[in-house]
Amino acid sequence: MKRRNFIKKASLSGVGLAIGSTLIGCENKPSEDKKHVSSSEQIKLPLVIATWHVIDSTAKAMEILQAGGSALDAVEQGCRVEEANEKGQSVGKGGLPDRDGNVTLDACIMDKHGNCGSVVYLQNITHAVSVARKVMEDTPHVMLAGEGAKQFAISKGFQPEDLLTEASKKAWEKWKVEAKYKPIINIENHDTIGMLAIDKNGDISGACTTSGLAYKMGGRVGDSPIIGSGLFVDNEIGGCVATGLGEEVVKTVGSFLVVELMRQGKSPQEACEEAIGRIVNKPNSDYKNFQVGYIAVNKKGETGSYSIHQWFSMTKFQDGVNEQIQSDYFIKT
Ligand code: ASP
Repeated sequence: MKRRNFIKKASLSGVGLAIGSTLIGCENKPSEDKKHVSSSEQIKLPLVIATWHVIDSTAKAMEILQAGGSALDAVEQGCRVEEANEKGQSVGKGGLPDRDGNVTLDACIMDKHGNCGSVVYLQNITHAVSVARKVMEDTPHVMLAGEGAKQFAISKGFQPEDLLTEASKKAWEKWKVEAKYKPIINIENHDTIGMLAIDKNGDISGACTTSGLAYKMGGRVGDSPIIGSGLFVDNEIGGCVATGLGEEVVKTVGSFLVVELMRQGKSPQEACEEAIGRIVNKPNSDYKNFQVGYIAVNKKGETGSYSIHQWFSMTKFQDGVNEQIQSDYFIKT
C-alpha cells in the first residue's frame, strides 16, 4: 500500500490542527528488501542521512563532504536544496501555508561543538536553515522568531520574497472550501527535511527545516526549530532528527531522548524504536492517528530509523551509494 493510500485510510477528523497534502518522496516507495536495520559494518565516512526521499539533497551534502567540507556546511547546503524546490510543499518556498494563507518556516542547525541556531515563524525568506546558521554564528542567541528573525535575515543579505506559490495557494483555497476553516487533522501534508552528516574527520552536525503542518493555526510552532525536540547533536555520541506531528515530538523531547539512549549504549535503531515507544505507550495515546519518525546516527557511523506508521523512509548516502531506505515501523497491522 502506498503511503498516500494509507493516509486516506487513516484520515481523521476533529482531533486538533489541520495537516495538509504533498509529501516529500511519498510516490517513491522503496522496496521492502531495503528495510532499514543498523549495522556495525557501516562505518565508512563521510556519510549523510536525511528524512524522506531527498536524494538531491543528500547528493549535495555528499559533494561538500567529499570535497573535504565540514558536516555543518554539508547539512546546511543539503537542506537548502529542498528549501529551494518549489515542488516540495512542506519546506521553504512553495511550503503549504497556515490557515490564513501565510507560509511560516521553522528551522534549526547544530554543530560539532554543541552550538545551535534556530528560527521560528519566519516569513518571506526561503532559506530558513541558513538564517538559523547565522543566528548561531553571528548572534549571542539561539532562537529568533517572526518579524525579528525576518529583519535579522534581511540585515544579513537574505532577499525577502513571496513563498506562497500558485500551487500551494490553490491547495490552500481548496482546503478552505473542504475544511470550512475547521481544525481537522489528517496525517498527510506535512514533513520536515532533517539531515545529519559525519565528515571525514568524524565530526557530526545536523539541521532541519520545514513549513510545519499545513493549515496550522496562525502562530503555531512545531518541533523542528526546538533544539532537543526536532534535532539534537552531541559530537561524542551521535545525532537525531524528527519528522511528523511536532506536538508529540516536543512532549517527549524526542531527538534529545534518542541521543541520550545512544549514550546509554543503545544502537541508533534501538534508540529510535524506544523513542517511538515513549509516544505510543502513553496512556490514551492517539498514535494511530498521527505519524512520527526519527532517524539517527552514532559516532561509529551506524544509523537507524523508525516510525509509528509505515512508509516513512530515510535517504542515506555512504560509500558511493545514495539510496532511499524504508524504515521499520510500529503499527504492523
Ligand atoms: N515536525 C513538523 C512540525 O510539526 C512537521 C513534519 O515533520 O511533518 O512542524
